[in-house]
Amino acid sequence: MLNHSFSINEKGHLTLSGVDTVELATEYGTPLYVLDENDIRNNCRQFKDAFQKYYEGNAKVYYASKAFSCLEMYRIANDEGICADVVSGGELYTALAAGFPAERIGFHGNNKTPDELAFAIDSKVGNIIVDNITELELLNEIAKEKGVCQKILLRIKPGIDCHTHDYIKTGQIDCKFGFALENGEAFEAVASACKLSNVELIGIHCHIGSQIFETQPFADAADIMIAFAKNIEQSLNKTLSEINFGGGYGIKYLETDKPVPKDESIRILCEEVKIACTKYGFSLPNISIEPGRSIVGDANLTLYKIGNVKTIKDIRTYVSVDGGMSDNPRYALYQAEYEAVVANKAKEERDFVCTIAGKCCESGDLIQEHAKIQTPEAGDTLAVLATGAYNYSMASNYNRIPRPAAVMVRDGNARVIIKRETYEDLINKDV
Ligand SMILES: *Cc1c(COP(=O)(O)O)cnc(C)c1O
Repeated sequence: MLNHSFSINEKGHLTLSGVDTVELATEYGTPLYVLDENDIRNNCRQFKDAFQKYYEGNAKVYYASKAFSCLEMYRIANDEGICADVVSGGELYTALAAGFPAERIGFHGNNKTPDELAFAIDSKVGNIIVDNITELELLNEIAKEKGVCQKILLRIKPGIDCHTHDYIKTGQIDCKFGFALENGEAFEAVASACKLSNVELIGIHCHIGSQIFETQPFADAADIMIAFAKNIEQSLNKTLSEINFGGGYGIKYLETDKPVPKDESIRILCEEVKIACTKYGFSLPNISIEPGRSIVGDANLTLYKIGNVKTIKDIRTYVSVDGGMSDNPRYALYQAEYEAVVANKAKEERDFVCTIAGKCCESGDLIQEHAKIQTPEAGDTLAVLATGAYNYSMASNYNRIPRPAAVMVRDGNARVIIKRETYEDLINKDV
């Protein structure tokens, strides 16, 4: 099975962290997001421990909370002593409501509104990652009105083209995020930021993409970012002491996926940073990363009830579940791949090829095509694996389908961390 937390019990049911998923579906209803707390905590620790081991300077791990954002998730990240990255006023509000310390929050986004910037400054977030010149000037204005000086980083596009889906690539020049390096835009932005009195430029940031299985793009980023920092030091007499390398560490969605172990990813990053510092004569900076998917993605699943199985002779079999793009839009968005298991038949052979379809009124509402599962029947419980990241956080009320509940499991126990939406919730804001 994909992750060590998945297992099969004596009834032949799929379990996660010792909890029977078929019983979960009965007790809490479906669709249901199930997250493994031990695994999330271990992921945080693995990143932290690796930096302890491989980096002599200061290093921080920011949980990229857009992957899965709710009160309990920020509490866990806080409890693990890591930082959080937020990309909207809503994520910032949720983090603060969970008691997450503002000074350990970084605020991202390519089009933060004036209200969001003011909210971030008033909340005293640790830093704001500035995306463009308009934002830089606006932020300086707002900070001036409030009589404060806000710490900032600048988001840089380092010009790295990594092998991942076009929609989740963010390092190349044709990308909506940040300042390009190769045309001098990033240099100009640093020069402009240095002249402003109500922002303090402390560093630079890059995020090259997501679900990356190679180490070379991260090594390249280390070299490029440090070369740039050195250039800034020499040309502008300004030392950028913080370099944030973003997230993007790939996870195992399919049995055949081979993600780089976290320890190894961090070892290589630290090594490359040190090599580049020696090469360019730059002092070891404070470094940080922003993993999202690799904190919350892999030891989690979504449970559905199969409603019907429709075989179209010589074409395909549709297996329809009681959720769909409303709780997991990732296949519809970019053909994201998943493994699925009939949770109540987990011991049987997965040799039935089918298309797993949702219940939304869209032909494109599919969870997976060419999926291999146990022979399905109406009433079975289907588990789609590794859905912890970018599922709940991308969920919608399309077709007025209430968003599912989420439960956290740990060592044989389960607790609700997000309640299921009700029909009343759906009309709550209607007038
Ligand atoms: C999305 C994003 C991340 C997290 O990416 P993962 O692939 O989930 O690790 C980190 N930093 C920034 C700026 C992002 O946009």
